[in-house]
Amino acid sequence: MGRTYNNYYDGAWHPALSGRRFEVTNPATGEQIAMVADSDREDAKQAIDAASRAFAVWSKTHQMERSRVLRKMAQALEQRADEFARILTEEQGKPLREARSEVMMGVASLDWYADEARRINGEIIPGGLPNTRIWLSWHPVGVVGAITPWNFPSSMITRKIAPALAAGCTVVLKPAEQTPLSALLMAELFRNAGLPPGVFNVIACLNPAPVGDEFLNNRAIRKISFTGSTEVGKFLMAGAARQVKLVSLELGGHAPFIVFDDADLDLAVAAASNQKFVNAGQTCICPNRIYVHESVSHAFAEKLAERARMLVPGNGIDDASTIGPLIEPAAVQKVIEHVEDARAKGARVVAGGAVLVANELRNGNFYAPTVLYGITPDMRIASEETFGPVAPIISFSSEEEVIAAANNTLYGLAAYVFTNDISRATRVTDALQAGMIAINSNTLTTGPQGPFGGIKESGMGREGGTAGLYGFLEMKTVSLTVRPE
Ligand code: ADP
Repeated sequence: MGRTYNNYYDGAWHPALSGRRFEVTNPATGEQIAMVADSDREDAKQAIDAASRAFAVWSKTHQMERSRVLRKMAQALEQRADEFARILTEEQGKPLREARSEVMMGVASLDWYADEARRINGEIIPGGLPNTRIWLSWHPVGVVGAITPWNFPSSMITRKIAPALAAGCTVVLKPAEQTPLSALLMAELFRNAGLPPGVFNVIACLNPAPVGDEFLNNRAIRKISFTGSTEVGKFLMAGAARQVKLVSLELGGHAPFIVFDDADLDLAVAAASNQKFVNAGQTCICPNRIYVHESVSHAFAEKLAERARMLVPGNGIDDASTIGPLIEPAAVQKVIEHVEDARAKGARVVAGGAVLVANELRNGNFYAPTVLYGITPDMRIASEETFGPVAPIISFSSEEEVIAAANNTLYGLAAYVFTNDISRATRVTDALQAGMIAINSNTLTTGPQGPFGGIKESGMGREGGTAGLYGFLEMKTVSLTVRPE
């Protein structure tokens, strides 16, 4: 029996008004790790009211003071990084090493936006006449309704709240039902680090619809910041239109990973392995279609399979494991379906290809790191997001052909290009329809300074970087006419 957690808003813990709670389980073991307040519309309303009251003060708090508080939040999280990493691993499953690096990404965001908070400047533009000026100034948009997914239960939150708080906004966050603990505990941690009550509030719920509805209908919420599926993102965007709320959306992806024949093959294999199998393939920037030039695709598949076989699936809390479970049985089912569909249509399984059933992995949430060769466009995996540890390899023969294939998707989040020809790298990145492209590496953004986000049905707006800050600011234009003496 795990611990019991309430909602955290207005600087204090509050049980759900209905008294209900829901269960949070460890995906590696199936064990219950916590019972958490199951919120409804009315809980959301109370948290939004608290955030509105806090906004009146926080939005007027001097930038230097907001900066100082953000820095203290970064320090507080860093000091307890190990403890937060363990909680993250328990609720999400990823290996402890990955969890710690995720928590440290959050520390970096808070620290970076502590600096950005000081630099919200304005502009003066000459008016049309000599005695006129135009002042541009920036103002926090208001209370933000943030909704985050389960795959990065810690860094998705810091990536939203660091710029939001730097801008002077206050936030009500609804974390994913699978992973609410990191969020709730961070809210308390940040309050203790000096963040005033009501500036950052967290409410958890099992059924997201009523809380989501309150976010959309409550006029105090001026912006919805969402990370999750394209389907839910579209629903929120449509709902936000009713009150013309701002939205930023980080949605699904179907990243092409292109390896040309002049590329450093070992470098490309290592990058593909890192980016495909991190978080057991449950990231929106995972390579989903690995296009390899036909002259090297066979060798690439063998080398990638070797790496896949070296991974050690297990409970993330255990130091030896290098790949964790999938989040829940439905996620495993989707992976099974994608692999079986590809196999039936002629793909070759070079590594993995099955649910793992060793004693300690018996709960059925573990899928073997898998490499598939000979993927064709008619297979589901070639167009749908798998969100699991499956690397599908597609052979290609020409640059033109691979660019057309890579862009043949509704998504446009991440892309990867491996080539040692600078002209080709430039041509291909110019042609690829993606918000982020990595050349000869799997690193898309190297830290909080790099904007993150997609185009097409992968979303709108950017998180990270200066662009991330301006997502929480609105411009005001003031025309001044100076009276001639
Ligand atoms: P995934 O498939 O990765 O779980 P979702 O888009 O379903 O992606 O979930 C991402 C986040 O969106 C989660 O916090 C989830 O609770 C939330 N969510 C899902 N449906 C709604 C909704 N109708 N209103 C508000 N939030 C929602």
